[in-house]
Amino acid sequence: MRDHLVRAVAEGVRVYGAVTTDLVNEGISRHDCYPVAAAALGRTMTGALLLAANLKNREAITVKFSGDGPLGTVTADATPEGIVRGYVGNPHVDLPLNSHGKIDVGGGVGRGLVSVTRFTGLKEPVTGSCEITDGEIANDLTRYLFLSEQTPSSVGLGVLVGKDFEAEAAGGFFIQPLPDATEDVLAQLEKNLSEVRSVSHMVAAGMDAKAIVSELLRGFPAVDYLATTELSFRCQCSKKRIGEVLLSLGRSELESLAEDGHAEVCCHFCGERYQFSGEELKALLEMR
Ligand SMILES: [Zn+2]
Repeated sequence: MRDHLVRAVAEGVRVYGAVTTDLVNEGISRHDCYPVAAAALGRTMTGALLLAANLKNREAITVKFSGDGPLGTVTADATPEGIVRGYVGNPHVDLPLNSHGKIDVGGGVGRGLVSVTRFTGLKEPVTGSCEITDGEIANDLTRYLFLSEQTPSSVGLGVLVGKDFEAEAAGGFFIQPLPDATEDVLAQLEKNLSEVRSVSHMVAAGMDAKAIVSELLRGFPAVDYLATTELSFRCQCSKKRIGEVLLSLGRSELESLAEDGHAEVCCHFCGERYQFSGEELKALLEMR
């Protein structure tokens, strides 16, 4: 099953579901994540994709957790077209399981701020933020949406990390009651939420995004499934763009790189390494 996101509406509610196992594994292998980082990055990328699903084409979103935990900053960029990239400050964090016997993402993230930036293309980007609730990512995003954007919602995110630090299953959902939602609708949603399995277990059981959404909307008479979007990990970096970053360095720094005769620059978002020869560095120096 390829990674995908499904949008659906029913009476008084909008629901998005996503399966993200492959793209989470791509992030894990690109950044060599240990389990805590794997789960934190996987949940954050999945959450960013779900929030991005509300945007218009060519817009984008950045979700950033700036906590005081050992993971450092956890960041993901996503677009409504289903493209995501992300990274963790310290991917090699090792923590004991938490009191529920689960990977301690909250301990890894720590306390601090969660911020969400929307890039609309036309206007200046808009950033909102609020304090991290428990660092488990999904609760933090739910509370952020409520406090900062006055949007009551429910976000569920899960990454099942198996042997070899690989994600066996990953996915998420995003439920937004519409302003006209009745008490009955809210009560049914709450009941369904309390009864469903964790989203990573639903994915592990082979459920696709549509099946996850239909589980969350059990009891709703008419569910309208809208577009399905394929999802993937992809970075916009290129040698040209990295060259532009080198150009923005101070002249003396660029000169000393050119003297070394070689430079390797790593894109922190995707881990891709770019090599620059002495000649290329000299050419950059001349452009400057
Ligand atoms: Zn990159």
